[in-house]
Amino acid sequence: MRQEMKRVEKMNTLGELAASIAHEVRNPLTVVKGFLQMMKQGENYQYVPLVLSEVERAEKIISDYLNFAKPQFQEKKRFCLDIVLNEVCILLEPLAMNKGISLQVKMGANPLLETDADQLKQALLNIIKNAIEATSSGGVVVTTAAVKSGVEIRIVDTGKGMTTEQLERIGTLFYTTKDKGTGLGTLISLRIINMMNGTLMYKSQPGVGTEATITLPTV
Ligand code: ADP
Ligand code: MG
Repeated sequence: MRQEMKRVEKMNTLGELAASIAHEVRNPLTVVKGFLQMMKQGENYQYVPLVLSEVERAEKIISDYLNFAKPQFQEKKRFCLDIVLNEVCILLEPLAMNKGISLQVKMGANPLLETDADQLKQALLNIIKNAIEATSSGGVVVTTAAVKSGVEIRIVDTGKGMTTEQLERIGTLFYTTKDKGTGLGTLISLRIINMMNGTLMYKSQPGVGTEATITLPTV
């Protein structure tokens, strides 16, 4: 069986992103407008859930984008990685529990980082959330280890995995295989990790699972 290792490094400029986000938000808005015009003619309340879900989609794209465009690294301070990882896992625990899978953090290193902790939290949240969303049995294990260049954070899931083609596309703007996905999560994480002089790598096998590896410089 083949296991592809893919270093994610696609990036779009903010200008390109803004143009595509505007385009992407227009789609649900056009649908909403069409349904509202139709509903104006009669009592077609059965379309209300559809209209609502399209509005929610537009809202989600915008909030994900705002996160992306937010000025980075306003607050650079020293912190322990363990604290941030624990906070992220507390936030995601309910999601894992609802899916009946486990979420475990095994700290092998407790390095000191000097960067924007909130941004790092956001990056880790997106990646671990993806791991949980891809998994329907078994679980997600997060480990840390000291390496030459700093620290390595590994997120291993027993989820559906990705094909070589899917691995090629991860981190590309709007690439999603989910009904309610935005395809912005990995891109946002990648941007944050790159700003921190770190790297993001994926290894995956369909039907077996995925391993995301983040490396970050330490103090
Ligand atoms: P979204 O989660 O909104 O779809 P992301 O950028 O976070 O956008 O992820 C893009 C796509 O990458 C997902 O839709 C999924 O197909 C794939 N993906 C990301 N992480 C994993 C994972 N751990 N296992 C399987 N597929 C994944
Ligand atoms: Mg995601």
